[in-house]
Amino acid sequence: MKPSLRFLEELVERAGAHEIIDAHQHLGSWGPQRGDWSPLDAIDEDVTARLAVLDKSGVDQCSLMAATQRPAGIVAASRANDAVVAEKARSERFRYAVCTLTFDSEQTAVTELGRCASLGFDGLMLHHRYEGKYLDHPLMWPILGSAQDLHLPVFLHLVPESSSEALWRLERVARAFPTLQFVALDALSTPASFSWVMHAAADMPNVAFDTALLLPALDAIRAFCARVGAERLVYGSDLLVTPPSEHFPWPLFEILASPITEDDRGLVLASNIRRIFGGSAG
Ligand SMILES: [Zn+2]
Repeated sequence: MKPSLRFLEELVERAGAHEIIDAHQHLGSWGPQRGDWSPLDAIDEDVTARLAVLDKSGVDQCSLMAATQRPAGIVAASRANDAVVAEKARSERFRYAVCTLTFDSEQTAVTELGRCASLGFDGLMLHHRYEGKYLDHPLMWPILGSAQDLHLPVFLHLVPESSSEALWRLERVARAFPTLQFVALDALSTPASFSWVMHAAADMPNVAFDTALLLPALDAIRAFCARVGAERLVYGSDLLVTPPSEHFPWPLFEILASPITEDDRGLVLASNIRRIFGGSAG
């Protein structure tokens, strides 16, 4: 049976009435890479592909962060951060740059974070599973202290099946740095993790959550806005474009389809992440 696409047309109209910012896009590949991988090689291809994806989805702007496999350590992380700067310079639609670190040592991490802040980066992103470190590893204390001093929001991946990124570890660091703004990535992706977030988010007012890998059930967007609050949710896709990691912008269209107010939809689609990058906690 051929489906009626009228509801899609309504969602497209609804999208056109909102500014849309994707808080969570990666530069590079998420496949295994050789030790001295540099994403600089692929920037031309990536810029073209990313702009096409933004057009396809009606996304006005995005934030860019490096992909997360860097077996060459902090040197490769620095090169990846430089690639993010280079790609950001190619379009005003690549609005925000988020740097990354490896955990070689406190000195190398804090030094690279300071370098990135001086380059104008808007935030810090970490993916502990790929670094082989726990989210509440002791090195996090000097790293988060430095991010706090530099007024940089911190984006942390919380892939639910990874014990190194267990949600209780987020709770621990969020409480240790109550004035630092965190964005928890990928945490709304399984029934168990979604339920934990619904239960625990009230005790972590300095943590926002993104929609990447969004659970395709449980009325997640409406339920989160009703219980936790629309001001704590940001649209993020976890997208990599070369090769594409997504072919239909599922979380975006679920946000557009969910029965929430247009004011709340505006918060989720753009206003919250703009406020977070603007430096206002909460
Ligand atoms: Zn990600």
